[in-house]
Amino acid sequence: VTTVALKDVTKVFRTGTLAVDRVNLDVDDGEFMVLLGPSGCGKSTVLRMVAGLEEPSSGAVFLNGELANDLPPRDRSVAMVFQDFALYPHLSVGDNIAFPLRLAGLEPGRRGERVADVAGALGIGDILDRRPGQLSGGQRQRVAMGRAIVRRPELFLMDEPLSNLDSGLRSELRAEISGLTRELGVTTLYVTHDQTEALTMADRVAIMRKGILQDVGTPSQVYGRP
Ligand code: ADP
Ligand code: ADP
Repeated sequence: VTTVALKDVTKVFRTGTLAVDRVNLDVDDGEFMVLLGPSGCGKSTVLRMVAGLEEPSSGAVFLNGELANDLPPRDRSVAMVFQDFALYPHLSVGDNIAFPLRLAGLEPGRRGERVADVAGALGIGDILDRRPGQLSGGQRQRVAMGRAIVRRPELFLMDEPLSNLDSGLRSELRAEISGLTRELGVTTLYVTHDQTEALTMADRVAIMRKGILQDVGTPSQVYGRP
């Protein structure tokens, strides 16, 4: 998957909550799109519909131009990174990063090479034998990113990946994430409530409020508007 298009996408949860209200959004090939808005405005729900973890109530999600509403998550070339890292606590760093390759049936030698490449790129090559419980927050987030990129997904979905980190690490990882996704040329949809992240990382920002997409544009377009 390299492009995403949402056409009039609406999500009403069983509870009656209208979480996403007729959203239209295009993410271009290789673009870093930031979905920005306050807590509860529907950002994660949009992301989860792109990942296939939620189905739209109405409207259409297109991946690479193909209608994907019913496509299961495993058939989307998508990797997700969450705020809480979601690492497997009983597996080493190396095995955490290798996990998706194992699911994909890659043989051990090739897994080792790919893990070493990714860990090197993220500066965590020297902690592959540790368990997640022995890592700092920044190291955990790097492991989570390593696990996400190791399968070379075509689409990268990130949900507040920096929210649980202190401000020094946040700025370091902001630069790292932007650098890495651009180096990989991977299309990215990045959810945050943090304006600084939007300003410094985005090619374009989509501003969401109460389920509605209010504005889409480059940071200077969006912040330059009245
Ligand atoms: P954000 O990511 O912007 O914080 P969410 O997409 O998580 O917002 O949530 C949007 C709205 O939908 C909120 O009112 C939230 O409480 C509600 N919501 C999210 N997930 C569910 C769910 N599984 N069931 C019912 N309501 C939900
Ligand atoms: P997925 O459906 O995410 O591809 P699985 O079906 O293997 O993966 O697992 C479902 C969920 O269970 C995963 O999202 C993960 O949070 C958790 N999980 C899977 N394997 C492990 C593990 N070895 N240790 C801890 N949690 C795991």
